[in-house]
Amino acid sequence: LTDRLSETLKKVRGQDRLTEENMDEMLREIRLALLEADVNFTVVKDFIKNTKEKALGQDVLGSLKPGQVVVKIVHDELVELLGTDVSTVDFSKKPTIVMMVGLQGSGKTTTTGKIAKYIKEKNHKKPLLVAADIYRPAAVEQLKTIGEQVDVPVYSEGVDVSAQQIVKNALAKAEADGNDVILIDTAGRLQIDQKLMEELKELKGIANPDEILLVVDSLAGQEIANVASSFNEQLGITGAVLTKLDGDSRGGGAISIRYLTHVPIKYIGTGEKLDQIELFYPDRMAERILGMGDVVSLVEKVQDVYDEKESMKAFNKMKSGTFDLNDMLDQMHQLKKLGPLSGLLKMVPGMPKLPKFSDEDSNARLKETESLIYSMTMQERQHPEIINMRRRERIAKGAGKTVADVNRLLKQFEQAKKMMKQFSNIDPMTGMPTQKP
Ligand code: GDP
Ligand code: MG
Repeated sequence: LTDRLSETLKKVRGQDRLTEENMDEMLREIRLALLEADVNFTVVKDFIKNTKEKALGQDVLGSLKPGQVVVKIVHDELVELLGTDVSTVDFSKKPTIVMMVGLQGSGKTTTTGKIAKYIKEKNHKKPLLVAADIYRPAAVEQLKTIGEQVDVPVYSEGVDVSAQQIVKNALAKAEADGNDVILIDTAGRLQIDQKLMEELKELKGIANPDEILLVVDSLAGQEIANVASSFNEQLGITGAVLTKLDGDSRGGGAISIRYLTHVPIKYIGTGEKLDQIELFYPDRMAERILGMGDVVSLVEKVQDVYDEKESMKAFNKMKSGTFDLNDMLDQMHQLKKLGPLSGLLKMVPGMPKLPKFSDEDSNARLKETESLIYSMTMQERQHPEIINMRRRERIAKGAGKTVADVNRLLKQFEQAKKMMKQFSNIDPMTGMPTQKP
């Protein structure tokens, strides 16, 4: 490669890759979207920084804009952060002991009832609910009512018995009655306080739970990060439940929880009714948080249509010099599936931008080229060098175009071929020269 050529290559490739400049605007928007979704602001800062580093230098395929590619990358990062797969509570151990913790009003008691109903119906379990929130008499009554509604027994004692003692007694009772799941509903405070944490630690010591589920109100905004971190530091939570997602919240708290505690989110609450509990699907949540699902599916479409195999095929043809007008037409049809085009051929990874094609914006221009090629015989398409003046006139007439149009098409094709030759030692996957000049 000559110096000039590698310079050109650098320039050309630079436009097809994500750079700090072409990402910045979109990242600003994404930052706002995440903040609006109540993702904790330090988490957003970190996340954007990491994603930016990861995205830098990545290819921008075909008709896509850098901003769209950034959205997809962010989306995928969110899904990965949120856990990729569905994560559930393992109820196979007998008994499985689950401790529900969280701030007051987060939905602990309701969620306790929901889980009991869920596993009773779906897993044929025989749960016991334990009323260990003894500070408000109404709390015990609430759990009893819920127990009746879902037809699951509730273990409770008077307000003069300590929570520690109640849990001890409940474990004995569960063993006697053959309950295979024990769900302990604990007290919460309006804000995190040390006395509450100490009691929960003691209850943890007594119950030796298999799961400590932190119940978090998705409407709690920026506070969620703080709650998740504190409970995790003090108790070592094993999972989280995000409630009230039937409300206005975009669910950004899920990001904060995952980012700060790394524990999976195992359920979501989607209403006050006791059957309004669902498993947590990371991809759905990522979409809800980011709110740019249409962009994500567009990018996926482009990536699907223009898969690696296709680009390798085209590249190899060009490399071996057998690239003809048929192949060019194939390429065009591939690209047409993607809708309005701003670029042609540049979708092939590692392939330099071909100015005469990629500058085309209009579909009309594309159609013109198409009709000209359709007007050619197979032999002409495979061996464009045989297209003499007489043939040019015939082709133009058949396509309803002029000879000048035919000339332009053939010139474009020649340029493309010439350029391909020059770049034929570029590795299509990396865009780097495969051999020294
Ligand atoms: P606790 O103090 O943590 O035990 O919270 P509760 O279970 O008593 O719930 C507090 C309030 O939130 C109650 O009015 C519940 O009906 C309501 N709640 C709980 N989960 C959900 C949910 O997923 N969606 C909605 N809309 N309300 C919920
Ligand atoms: Mg409660």
